[in-house]
Amino acid sequence: MIDIKNIQEIKIIVGDEWVSAGQSVRELHSHDESFHTPVLPDVVVWPHSTEEVSNIVKWAYEKDIPITPWGVGTSLEGNPIPVRNGISIDFQEMNKVLAIRQEDFQVDVQAGVVYKELNKTLGHHGLLFPPDPGAAATIGGMIGNNASGIRTVKYGATKDYVMRLTVVLPGGDVIHAGNRARKSSSGYNLCALFTGSEGTLGIVTEATLRLVGLPVNFMAVRAVFPTVLNATNTVFQVMSSGLSPSAMELLDGKVMEVLNRDRGYSLHEQPTLLMEFNGYSETGLREEMACVEEICQENACSFLDKGIGASERSRLWDMRHLTFESIKRSHTNLLPLIMDVAVPLSRYSEIVTFAREEVKDLVAYVFGHAGDGNVHVVVMDNPEDKGRWARVEEANRKIVLKALELEGTCTGEHGVGIGKRQFLEIEHGESLALMQRIKALLDPKDLMNPGKFFV
Ligand SMILES: Cc1cc2nc3c(=O)[nH]c(=O)nc-3n(C[C@H](O)[C@H](O)[C@H](O)COP(=O)(O)OP(=O)(O)OC[C@H]3O[C@@H](n4cnc5c(N)ncnc54)[C@H](O)[C@@H]3O)c2cc1C
Repeated sequence: MIDIKNIQEIKIIVGDEWVSAGQSVRELHSHDESFHTPVLPDVVVWPHSTEEVSNIVKWAYEKDIPITPWGVGTSLEGNPIPVRNGISIDFQEMNKVLAIRQEDFQVDVQAGVVYKELNKTLGHHGLLFPPDPGAAATIGGMIGNNASGIRTVKYGATKDYVMRLTVVLPGGDVIHAGNRARKSSSGYNLCALFTGSEGTLGIVTEATLRLVGLPVNFMAVRAVFPTVLNATNTVFQVMSSGLSPSAMELLDGKVMEVLNRDRGYSLHEQPTLLMEFNGYSETGLREEMACVEEICQENACSFLDKGIGASERSRLWDMRHLTFESIKRSHTNLLPLIMDVAVPLSRYSEIVTFAREEVKDLVAYVFGHAGDGNVHVVVMDNPEDKGRWARVEEANRKIVLKALELEGTCTGEHGVGIGKRQFLEIEHGESLALMQRIKALLDPKDLMNPGKFFV
């Protein structure tokens, strides 16, 4: 427990204004967007520089006080919940774009930059940071969780864009990992180690990110199918035909139903695929469109809407970004358990069919980043109702075990946090012991985001 004297000491490091032990501030930092039980930090701190982060961590490590980094708390597995109290380090004030290196397709940022804001700035330079988790996430939180999103099918996940990191290690030492070269075979890949480590090994304060040129020509398709199997077969055929969608999302009939009810749309309440392509010219995109249409028709597509250009893409796609909000708004008295398994593409039909069967007695919605073999099942229920919640957790467990049997993973993009700890041993076998040794080596006191990853 942090006392008044401790708070005075932290104030000396970051300044009076940037420390708070107020109840409402602590409550804001006690939960993410998941159902996991909130836990209050003792104190919240807003540093402005790597040096301040280093001094806070050094101070806390000496006093055995747990430290949990905080982006904006949009995680879905309890990842930033300070389960052993202590200090929540909020990166809101470290929100500067430090350098845009247009000719190198790179940007240097502080960890608290929100990626949507970053992309607005980069857009003026014809550049894009592609990973797109949808929520207003920070770069630090995206690196923490190795976030992905709708563009991963073409562009990859956050890990594919991290070139160089400034990291405050447990104990307060600062290291600079990686370099700015487009390729490197030099030494262990420490950027990869910290990316996806959820703040359990160190705290990222700055990053150099790889960028791509901002695409300007778009083509979008919304295709409706009589069965989920028709839709998932289409995914496989589009991906294996040499086409390169920049997004490919599956939404089941219940998701379309909830969108109609909540947003007043009149969409077909059947399995639907949303596809987006970007490219060099409209002519090329029209050729791709003809090919996509042919594949959809071969798979019994019952309705197809399509368009070329950014506004057409918005018309066909905007509802995808509203999915999670619409589901939550339709069940305000319930909380979500969100499954996030991913499998090899050839097994996607199998996992989607299995998951739908497993949750058919629950209030559940199936959708996902189909082109990545990633499926989300959102189950809405009441964690206080122990009997019902046990059934929800049973479904979660069976779906994860099925994904692992299909040589997939328990989490495609949301991370381990609290929710997926129980599956790491099954997924990683003897490698989990090595992960534990790495954790013990870097953080021998187990103070960095404790209670995550390992049961
Ligand atoms: C509606 C909705 C849709 C979503 N869709 C997607 C999606 O499509 N794809 C996807 O991948 N995710 C998705 N997410 C999950 C979430 O948005 C991402 O995981 C995101 O990257 C979290 O960012 P954040 O800034 O909120 O981080 P937080 O939730 O605050 O933190 C995330 C983790 O990183 C750690 N962390 C934070 N800052 C740092 C730092 N500076 N250094 C080290 N560790 C740090 C935290 O301790 C925590 O473990 C979605 C969430 C919502 C609510």
